[in-house]
Amino acid sequence: MKILVLNCGSSSLKYQLIDMDGEKVLAKGLVERIGIEGSRIKHTKTGLDAVTREVPFPDHSAAIKYVLDILVDPEFGVLKSLDELGATGHRIVHGGEKFTKSVLVTPEVVKGIEEVIPLAPLHNPANLMGLKAVMDVLPDKPNVVVFDTAFHQTMPPKAYIYGIPYEYYEKDRIRRYGFHGTSHGYVAHRAAEILGKDIKDLKIVTCHLGNGSSITAVDGGKCVDTSMGMGTGEGLLMGTRSGNVDPLVMITLMEKLGDAEKVSEVVHKKSGLLGVSGVSSDLRDVEEAAEKGCERSKIAQDILITGVKKYIASYAAEMGGVDVVVFTAGIGENGITFREAVCKDMEFMGIKFDAEKNNCRGKEVVISAPDSKVTVMVVPTDEEMAIARDTKKCVEEAGK
Ligand code: ADP
Repeated sequence: MKILVLNCGSSSLKYQLIDMDGEKVLAKGLVERIGIEGSRIKHTKTGLDAVTREVPFPDHSAAIKYVLDILVDPEFGVLKSLDELGATGHRIVHGGEKFTKSVLVTPEVVKGIEEVIPLAPLHNPANLMGLKAVMDVLPDKPNVVVFDTAFHQTMPPKAYIYGIPYEYYEKDRIRRYGFHGTSHGYVAHRAAEILGKDIKDLKIVTCHLGNGSSITAVDGGKCVDTSMGMGTGEGLLMGTRSGNVDPLVMITLMEKLGDAEKVSEVVHKKSGLLGVSGVSSDLRDVEEAAEKGCERSKIAQDILITGVKKYIASYAAEMGGVDVVVFTAGIGENGITFREAVCKDMEFMGIKFDAEKNNCRGKEVVISAPDSKVTVMVVPTDEEMAIARDTKKCVEEAGK
């Protein structure tokens, strides 16, 4: 089965065409500036150089039509006709409490995604635009939706209820949801597979560290806690997001700036590595500046390192132990000095680090010593493949 995987933002669209027979990526690409002047598509057929074209895309439908055309193009395409396409898998950021797993799209499912728009006002409408455009252009092909929040729906109330009056949960659905679920689920399962163990027997802490970062406690294959919350700003210090702050900080900012949008701009776009260092939101720049003696960069770097340590140790405490720690995403896969700094001085909880094995980027590798009680690993994430697998499964289960 050949599956198109789509990840739609408000003005962008990422796609991959995957042949599930051998799980091969046949083509992938990115459409940017949809609805804005200067829109363009970058398309790569596996094995060939990328082609970039400036094309006016007034909306997501136009972009999707173009992507489908290029997929059957005699030169850059990978399909003889769209009949070969089995289904489309869509990344949807928020599934609220309604969606606990990936599902085949029906009119009720679309309605359900619309209902949780208030919880993800920026992301869900963009995701829906992509879904509706595909339903419009390919009305006879099945669609599956895969939610960033679904993996976290197994959390117990003690992990997802905030300590505010319960009525806010009941009436407004204010609770921890967690994000990056597709990635956490993928790397946790992959780690178990690499180690040749049944995930049911493992306590795993997965660290997805990129521009946005979150850490998840996975006990026996199920998420029991995660660091992101109702939105994507809680938990760790991130590229431009503050992570955890005292409510008084928010109240003070609110009084000072006078409007919620401005406070949101500060804590989501001007904080994190960028806000503390004053240098950059990219850890590489911050590390370089710290190396050259920039004090604020050193502080920013240390906040993130300490934050990751704290979550690993606290999730170990919460699960009554930890067998495996997994690093993934941009920083997790590539940050050699960062991983070393996190794992340093963690022997007290059974982490014995191997600096030599750690000297690698973007590969599946165990970076702890053979006699380490806790196995520390790097597992590159592959959200598109996880979406494609779920899509295939849902379509086959439905007998489509
Ligand atoms: P996103 O959350 O946007 O998907 P990524 O997972 O691609 O982001 O991560 C991007 C981040 O990865 C960059 O901002 C950078 O901080 C970090 N990164 C990439 N390579 C390295 C590296 N060699 N060392 C440290 N950090 C790195």
